[in-house]
Amino acid sequence: MIRIQEHVDLLPYNTFKIAAKARYFVSVTTVDELRELINHPVYKQNTHLIVGGGSNMLLTGDYNGLVIKNDLRGIETVSENDATILLKAGAGEPWHAFVMFCVTNNYGGAENLSLIPGTIGAAPMQNIGAYGVEVKDLIQTVEAIDTTTGELRVFTNEECAFGYRESVFKRALKGKYFISSVTLSLTKKDHKLNTSYGAIQQTLDQQHATASIKTISDAVISIRQQKLPDPTVIGNAGSFFKNPTIDQSHYETLKKTHPEIPGYFSDNQKVKVPAGWLIEQCGWKGKTIGNVGVHPHQALVLVNYGNGSGENIQTLAQDIRDSVNKKFAIDLQPEVNII
Ligand SMILES: Cc1cc2nc3c(=O)[nH]c(=O)nc-3n(C[C@H](O)[C@H](O)[C@H](O)COP(=O)(O)OP(=O)(O)OC[C@H]3O[C@@H](n4cnc5c(N)ncnc54)[C@H](O)[C@@H]3O)c2cc1C
Repeated sequence: MIRIQEHVDLLPYNTFKIAAKARYFVSVTTVDELRELINHPVYKQNTHLIVGGGSNMLLTGDYNGLVIKNDLRGIETVSENDATILLKAGAGEPWHAFVMFCVTNNYGGAENLSLIPGTIGAAPMQNIGAYGVEVKDLIQTVEAIDTTTGELRVFTNEECAFGYRESVFKRALKGKYFISSVTLSLTKKDHKLNTSYGAIQQTLDQQHATASIKTISDAVISIRQQKLPDPTVIGNAGSFFKNPTIDQSHYETLKKTHPEIPGYFSDNQKVKVPAGWLIEQCGWKGKTIGNVGVHPHQALVLVNYGNGSGENIQTLAQDIRDSVNKKFAIDLQPEVNII
């Protein structure tokens, strides 16, 4: 049975810790409740915002519509054989809890994605990724409810049209589906362990540990705890911008004036440049403006030191974009959803 509340404080529901209010707010725990909601007059008469962990959104003001908190939980085995297991997880299941479930059971594939905040349901939205792994590598199918008709649709991995921090749910089908569960394929043996990215191998070496699902997960957790601000302590939404991809010719031109510019070549004559490096070169790293700022250890992370508004963060983000554009002729795109 759903219960729609009014004028609800959204501060506990977003990791930027922005104090905004929702005109209406409802938590849904089952697909039946979601369907009940879709037939409710408050739903029909208002705009909707689906919220999982609120760790990839910036609320720029009060939300004058209906906030739907996704609380669909549960992890179940769909099928398994000697080599692999298919697990179906409710969209409101915390992502990290799912990874820990896999690590505890020695199911391989998700360990490099340890400690990413948020929910299972939001993971396909932007195809979460870290330390050389993206969730698209694991996703078998995504179940989603049509936000107009309440009908269930099952998306194959291909139909999700995953890209770098992209999917069909963020583009062509934005706002059209409520992701209700995700089915992921994990290995039970012959795990493809990936220690090549970031400081994973170095951390394992320091601890004299051999690579396993558990040791990689532990290494990733410890690296992330050192590198990234804990959103329960300092409001943030992780990387605010995507790493831009530019033409090789543009990159070569920049290299003449900035010989040290890092770049990762892809096969289509494009080069991915770390946004954090560009922001740092513009002098933003560690800068504080009022209650908000750029994290001192990670220039890609914008932070709310307390009482900052969504507008403060948005203004800071725009100023950063302008200065990076002026210096490098690169237009940074936000990774965070601006609401
Ligand atoms: C400290 C920190 C570190 C981070 N590190 C990483 C990282 O390494 N890699 C990475 O990729 N991301 C990272 N993130 C970003 C974030 O954790 C992920 O994008 C995560 O998947 C967001 O999940 P969420 O449930 O919080 O989504 P929310 O912020 O609640 O929602 C994000 C968007 O998805 C929509 N949405 C949410 N749930 C559903 C649903 N069930 N159906 C339809 N639409 C939905 C929302 O409306 C919104 O537009 C980090 C964030 C923080 C704070």
